[in-house]
Amino acid sequence: MTPDTDSQRTIVSSSFERHDLPLEESFTISRGTTDTATVLTVELEDETGRVGVGGAGPASYYDETPDSVEEVLPKLLEAVESIGDPHAQQVIEERLAALAPDEAAARAAVSIAVHDLAATQADEPLYRRWGLDGARAPTTSYTIGIDSPDGMHDRAQRARERGYDVLKVKLGTDADRDRLEAVREAAPDARIRVDANCAWTPEEGIKNTEWLADLSVEFLEQPVPSEDIDGLRRISEEGALPIAADESCVTATDVPAVADAVDIVVVKLMKCGGLRPAQRQILAAKAHGLDVMLGCMTESNASIAGACQLTPLVEYADLDGALLLESDVYDGVAMSDGKIDLTSVARGVGISPR
Ligand SMILES: [Mg+2]
Repeated sequence: MTPDTDSQRTIVSSSFERHDLPLEESFTISRGTTDTATVLTVELEDETGRVGVGGAGPASYYDETPDSVEEVLPKLLEAVESIGDPHAQQVIEERLAALAPDEAAARAAVSIAVHDLAATQADEPLYRRWGLDGARAPTTSYTIGIDSPDGMHDRAQRARERGYDVLKVKLGTDADRDRLEAVREAAPDARIRVDANCAWTPEEGIKNTEWLADLSVEFLEQPVPSEDIDGLRRISEEGALPIAADESCVTATDVPAVADAVDIVVVKLMKCGGLRPAQRQILAAKAHGLDVMLGCMTESNASIAGACQLTPLVEYADLDGALLLESDVYDGVAMSDGKIDLTSVARGVGISPR
């Protein structure tokens, strides 16, 4: 194969599109309910017609909306086109951060597309470019949103029938114990994690870990509000389960503050702003002796496939965003039964149009 010339690798055009993707079932967490995931997808093209794809799944909790992403993307894409070289990832990341410091999902979309194009040009999967072992990708959990106890029982049963062995259960309601007991009854042999999305007090968290542990829950994610690091620490010290920080740990610089308060950090591209920031947050967590879960919002395969490339680095994966969709605009990394199959990625991050 003749190596590319610089001009053949250069980004010559870019575009983005907004999609309203219906969910299979309405999805409720302690903060509210959604029926649709509004995502934005980005495409970058080089001179030979090779395409890099990425996606943004903005979360209003982090003050980002589809409108705000749509507004900032032209500026970010213009910057990437002016840099031109998709392999100039350090420079691109710095420029994006300067242009849109508060728009992490928009930056993540561009970051994924740039990495996808660069690895596609090299004709290699991205995780291989990083030297990672694809066989180490952990199985993803499948999320059971808040519903009536009977509804959650049925959702868990359907998830088990579809082959998902690891469930993440959303709690933070007035009858959490009934709900989790219903899920456990429907999935007696599943590995179960619980996410309370900031809904409990430290006292409730400590008390609840006892029955959560009795129901063989593996760990408890974000029981208290994001700013309550002392609350996380108290539940870790006095409660019966390992604790994970999600809303309390947005980027790498948040890791030291939670390091002695939790056992696990949840890293999401849409919180930290891209693949390089996610890698740094993972390594910062490891440096503090913490385990890591790679998570997501409700997202298209156009962004989930990017996160999948980092999974050999982490202990836990919660990358079911696209599994919850009724339809998507791209195919991504194969995830049959929740098993993230990185060998299915031929090149880039493994995104292809449907
Ligand atoms: Mg969470």
